[in-house]
Amino acid sequence: MRLQVFLGALLFWNAVHAADHSPAIVIHGGAGALEAGRYTPEEEAAYKAKLTEALNAGYATLDAGGTALDAIEQAIVIMEDSPLFNAGKGSVFTKDGANELDASIMDGATRNAGAVAGVKSVKNPISLARAVMEKSRHVMFAREGAETFAKEQGLEFVAPDYFYTERRWDALQDALEKEKKAKKETALPDDRKFGTVGAVALDRDGNLAAGTSTGGMTMKQWGRVGDSPIIGAGTFADNNSCAVSSTGHGEFFIRLTVARDICAQVEYGGKSVADATQDVIHNRLTGMDAEGGVIVLGKDGDFAMAFNSKGMFRGVKTAVEERVAIYGNE
Ligand code: ASP
Repeated sequence: MRLQVFLGALLFWNAVHAADHSPAIVIHGGAGALEAGRYTPEEEAAYKAKLTEALNAGYATLDAGGTALDAIEQAIVIMEDSPLFNAGKGSVFTKDGANELDASIMDGATRNAGAVAGVKSVKNPISLARAVMEKSRHVMFAREGAETFAKEQGLEFVAPDYFYTERRWDALQDALEKEKKAKKETALPDDRKFGTVGAVALDRDGNLAAGTSTGGMTMKQWGRVGDSPIIGAGTFADNNSCAVSSTGHGEFFIRLTVARDICAQVEYGGKSVADATQDVIHNRLTGMDAEGGVIVLGKDGDFAMAFNSKGMFRGVKTAVEERVAIYGNE
């Protein structure tokens, strides 16, 4: 009898303590040439309002005891549905004028992951990545295979012109024009204003999750896949270390396995989230002459939002802090 009481008390203690993490969510809406004055006050306000909406939706889920996975999916869907960001509606165009979307998601509790590359008519690629993680035996699906799987899973489809925005179309025309003038293939547009979206969260049970969604880079060759759907480069989450979502020049993020490297430095190197992030962005990425940024959330709720570009759309919400910013000095 006494033993039962003791075990009961132990279970209760565990239940209480397993659920005592203070929730946190950090998001980004892409890094790039975002210098103060680039946007009008109205445009800045629109970006900040959308970031705030995404943060609030994710945080409300966490606050109510929901999972980190649900929180990041909700936050990312809001940004995918907005034409402001280069993900979902508002995605950039490939060189031949199409939209090819990539996304990935990872569950820090199980280290299960899902990813999709080159999808053309699924409204919310992050939800498809989650379905791949939860409903298939695989981690990544590409192109037609990904869309067939999306159909089987009942995901929402849209006509390809749903993704069209004048701004992104004009950016492609500009990039093509510049390439023509340069008389050689310029791998990337000069205007490196990225706009990928991502989120990382910690829920009350202490579980971390990370997700990233993108249209890729303007004028990318058809079939090109960046870092965003690559687990370990664009996205990584492990309850033993941290959760990361990347944005920037994907080819370098893949080669540096940016997301995994940050978490590995935390896990094996005993570094703080801030120090590991600082090393990967400001030493390793900068050392390769590449641009971009990351959001990182540690298992104890410590977080970093770091970039070596001029700015990064970003935001954080915890029990004690709520902040959104665009430019470097904000
Ligand atoms: N990382 C993305 C890619 O290379 C682009 C971005 O972050 O804006 O596809």
